[in-house]
Amino acid sequence: MSGPVTTADAPAADREPGHPAVRCIEISEDREASVGRFAVRRALPRRARRTVGAWCFADHMGPAEVDETSGLDIGPHPHIGLQTVTWLVAGEVLHRDSLGSEQVIKPGQLNLMTAGHGVAHSEEATGAYRGTLHGVPLWVAQPEHTRHGPPAFEHHADLPRLQLEHGVATVLVGEVAGTSSPARHDTPLVGVDLALQRGESAVPLDPRFEHAVLVLDGAVNLDGRDLAPGRLAYLGDGRDELAVRTPIRARAVLLGGVPFGEPLLMWWNFVARTRAEVESACAGWRAASDRFPAFRSPLARIPAPALPWTR
Ligand code: MN
Repeated sequence: MSGPVTTADAPAADREPGHPAVRCIEISEDREASVGRFAVRRALPRRARRTVGAWCFADHMGPAEVDETSGLDIGPHPHIGLQTVTWLVAGEVLHRDSLGSEQVIKPGQLNLMTAGHGVAHSEEATGAYRGTLHGVPLWVAQPEHTRHGPPAFEHHADLPRLQLEHGVATVLVGEVAGTSSPARHDTPLVGVDLALQRGESAVPLDPRFEHAVLVLDGAVNLDGRDLAPGRLAYLGDGRDELAVRTPIRARAVLLGGVPFGEPLLMWWNFVARTRAEVESACAGWRAASDRFPAFRSPLARIPAPALPWTR
């Protein structure tokens, strides 16, 4: 899905801060943002925490009511250097992109769009769904060896699941205890949906990865700390298990990966390394260049905002 990332989320001139020591727990403050006409709680990026592995963007979106003709309503906009990972716990969204993809996504399914050198997409009402929309739009930063490559789109209608003591884990990306998602990933990465019943569950982790948990519904307790919807708990690396206690039913997403070693410059819908790269992508979008081919959408193209460093 779409950002956009503003300078309040990720100051454009910043470099990656150091990644804290093993087995910490830091819980983010609430921060409201908006995507399309939706209020969201922005979990990543934050000034103090910009990435978890290659995960560089996470919103808690909704729950909110949509109808057949009015939903997320994010018109055509460009991306470079990232993958968008869309996961819904309720509702339906129609994805269209400059590769010609036209795909409705429903709960339990995964849309994964790789931007590489450049792609454009929209997120629209389906024309058929009315009800609650609730989910988590995520971005993954692409590493140097793939970020200049061609765009791509994958839809996974079914994903592998693992039974936990008191819940079910769905593997969105990467692998948990030998169960692997078919979704593409360009760096060592894991993303897991946790549908938890009341009780205690344990999820095996790769200790080489840093991890974080984002709560979507209900409440979870990690290391004795309560975590409410919209909050991100960063857990550091060096853990071989996530022990999660749920006082009530809960829904959460576990994100992890090997710390992303490349300095990122994130602005609007672009994940780059330098201002020149961002300026070039902006100019390409404004000029409707072949880098971001046009595609049919009932929604208006979203104009690129003014660059913060060229006023
Ligand atoms: Mn987008």
